[in-house]
Amino acid sequence: MLQVQNAIPFNRAPVVGRELELIREALEARRLAGDGPHTRWCQDRLKEALGAHQVLLTTSCTTALELAGLLCGLAPGDEVIMPSFTFVSTANAVVLRGARPVFVDVRPDTLNIDETLIEAAVTPRTRAIFPVHYAAVCAEMDAINAIATRHGLAVVEDAAQAIGASYKGRPAGTLGDMGCFSFHETKNVVSGEGGALALRDATHADRARILWEKGTNRTAFLLGQVDKYTWVDVGSSFLPSEITAAVLRAQLESAREIIDDRLRSWGFYHAALEDAEGAGLLRRPIVPDHCVHNAHIYYVLCGDRAQRDGLIGKFRSHGITASFHYIPLHSAPAGQRFGRTQGELTVTDDIAGRLLRLPLWYGMGEKAGRVVEILRRELGLPSL
Ligand SMILES: *Cc1c(COP(=O)(O)O)cnc(C)c1O
Repeated sequence: MLQVQNAIPFNRAPVVGRELELIREALEARRLAGDGPHTRWCQDRLKEALGAHQVLLTTSCTTALELAGLLCGLAPGDEVIMPSFTFVSTANAVVLRGARPVFVDVRPDTLNIDETLIEAAVTPRTRAIFPVHYAAVCAEMDAINAIATRHGLAVVEDAAQAIGASYKGRPAGTLGDMGCFSFHETKNVVSGEGGALALRDATHADRARILWEKGTNRTAFLLGQVDKYTWVDVGSSFLPSEITAAVLRAQLESAREIIDDRLRSWGFYHAALEDAEGAGLLRRPIVPDHCVHNAHIYYVLCGDRAQRDGLIGKFRSHGITASFHYIPLHSAPAGQRFGRTQGELTVTDDIAGRLLRLPLWYGMGEKAGRVVEILRRELGLPSL
């Protein structure tokens, strides 16, 4: 069972610091529901790091996006512009409000929504733009915000992958009106399941807290601003328990260490595949100078789908899990049912078929060397 012994998983959740200690603290304090001290610590820490007006922890990025969809006031018939090359949650947040995702093609370099194609997708029913920061490289937010301002649209960043990333020196997640983060175990900083909604300014702050409190004015009540705690709006249970927040707190304390470690593996892959790109055998990720990423994903674009799928199989035979990524939403059954496309999504269809993600996780260390060795051999390149 040599293969199993040497197996390299695609992802391995980081456990780095005080997770158990902080969970124990919550248990011993008998403080387990949401909105306790661990939750507040995480929210304060994120608020400060992001320069946000307010941050609310959520049970996932999916629910953060749903909360954002509610705050945007999306209603049946409304349209929201987004890339098709994304996870289903970006679109579901819109569809759950009865609104329609409008899929626009992505840029061939960053694989983010092509900002030059957005304006052609705007109709009188458009309410918002939901850009996604793929691999934590930010979409072209200055251009996107300018279009939003011109047409009176909200901007919700799907920053699920982008904790610690920045654009022109500004943190991802507070570049638009709202930003949604994920702490799912496959992301950089994790709490099992988990997420956060960041608000750039005060516009939606009061209503966000009410919706987060299941549609009640509990916060105003706790602050002594009202003498009764009652149902005032729609809402749901968006908040995670203190156990989840305890894990997140430990991870946020170690976030720099996690990201730096991942950046080392990312940098190793990038350097080790430079000649492969030079020889035209694959394309490496492109990170514009004004974007700082967090090494969430290391991907290569293969020559074609057959080569990509062949490499996945070859890696598997060595016990290494490498992976494709999104099936473009516009080509999925629910995407066709609920969404529409703007123009041909040529780049999306092309890159989705050729993209290969290599294993990347905190603490993988020298294992990246084995991944590269196999990839180089398959490409007919000498070992390093
Ligand atoms: C991971 C991810 C999500 C969903 O995050 P959850 O926390 O699992 O709900 C949404 N959008 C993108 C782009 C993601 O990568």
